[in-house]
Parts: sequence; structure tokens; C-alpha cells
Amino acid sequence: MTTTIASRLQAVHDRIATVAQSFGRQPGEITLLAASKTNPAERLREAYQAGQKIFGENYLQEALGKMQYLTDLPIEWHFIGPIQSNKTRRISENFSWVHSVDRTKIADRLSKDRPESLPPLQICLQVNVSGEASKSGVAPEELASLASHAMRLPRLKLRGLMAVPELTTATALQRSQFHMLWELFDRLKRDGYELDTLSMGMSEDMDIAISEGATMVRVGTAIFGPRRYLIPEEIAALAAKRAQEL
Ligand SMILES: *Cc1c(COP(=O)(O)O)cnc(C)c1O
Repeated sequence: MTTTIASRLQAVHDRIATVAQSFGRQPGEITLLAASKTNPAERLREAYQAGQKIFGENYLQEALGKMQYLTDLPIEWHFIGPIQSNKTRRISENFSWVHSVDRTKIADRLSKDRPESLPPLQICLQVNVSGEASKSGVAPEELASLASHAMRLPRLKLRGLMAVPELTTATALQRSQFHMLWELFDRLKRDGYELDTLSMGMSEDMDIAISEGATMVRVGTAIFGPRRYLIPEEIAALAAKRAQEL
């Protein structure tokens, strides 16, 4: 059994198809985003050559560095990490999508900074479904007002919602958090928003996310193999868990 990126990618596609079908969904309803943080450009190129066209990055500097080496490929770049307000211009200039919009100030700046030469920036609103203080995302009670604000911004196109549920092995808890995001999504659609993207599910929990209605899964480890170092959010989550245990 080889574990090249191509074979891992095929395994992820097979997994999505199997899970989708077992919940009465079409595999084509679910888009695979390759979450490529910490992986060097050459590994993204390998994934691209194996058919992957959409990549998600968390850190602007890291992403810009890789983009330089991949300008020959028509990759669709998605920004999926926390956004600092002084980074909005370069995010707006370099990405097609942003999944992690969680406050009006950031939405305003992304819209203002989106170059006229590009189509509107496609966005998802990130919701804090776990209620953890350390987590990014708008509180569920504040989502409606953020959505109505973002909808009116001329250079943004609101596509849907995104969440990163609690890092836990308790699948019932994860399921309830994915379900909450689906309910918020459904509510907005019933209120007249034309949304088509529910961005949820990662390597470890994509099956549950698909069963709860995900239309885009963001998968890193299952495509690229284990990351060799932790990202800041993982360090913070582990530290918080450790502090609780003490
Ligand atoms: C890293 C990351 C993923 C992918 O996580 P894996 O567990 O490696 O599949 C998805 N979404 C976000 C926001 C991430 O930071």
C-alpha cells in the first residue's frame, strides 16, 4: 500500500462518496478543499497534478510564499485561518474565497480592499458553534446581524457558513455542533439568503459533517499525511486542555 498524495487523495474521494451515498446524498454535492497549511509548495503541486484544484491556507505569509511557486497552476485559493485586520488587503487581493469572516469590521475591510479587476470575494461566515472562548467565529446569536451586514457589501458574495467544532473524541458532541451549523444555515436560507456552502468537516470528522449536510469539507492530514509541527490554534487547544486537567 503506497501512501503518495495521489493515493491518499483517491482514498478521501472514495470516503466522501461512500459516506454521502449512505446518507442518501450525491458525492458531487460535496466539494473537497485541500487544507495545505505547513505543507511546502511542491506537495501542493503534487496534489494538483493528482486532480486537486482547491486549496485552503491559514496563514497569509505562508500562503503568499507558496503562491509564488505555483503561479503556473490555476489553483482556486481559499483563506481559512483567523484574519487580522491589517492583513485584509493582501487576503482580498490573493484569494478567491475567505471562510473565516467573523466580524463586520473584517467584512467591511475585505469588501473595500477587493480589487475591481477581480470578481467579488466569495465568503463564508465562521460561527463559533462550540462556545469556547478561545475560538474564532461569530456567536450564533449574532450571526443574523453579521449576515445582513455582509450581504450588503458590494465586493463580497456571501456563500454560506463555516465552523470548526470542538477538538474532541466525543462524536455526539461534534454531531450536535455540526447540526447547529446546519440549522443556522437552514434558517438563513428560509429568511431568503441564497446560500449554497456549508463548510464543515476535517480529516477526523468529515463523515459526521457529511451526514449533517456539509457541502465543502476541508481536509489536510488525510491528504498530505501528519503535519510535522502544530499550528498556534492546536498549541492553544492543547494548553487549555492541560490547564483543565491540572
Ligand atoms: C488544518 C485545518 C483543517 C484540516 O485539518 P485536518 O485535521 O488536517 O484535516 C480544516 N480547517 C481548518 C480551519 C484548518 O485549520
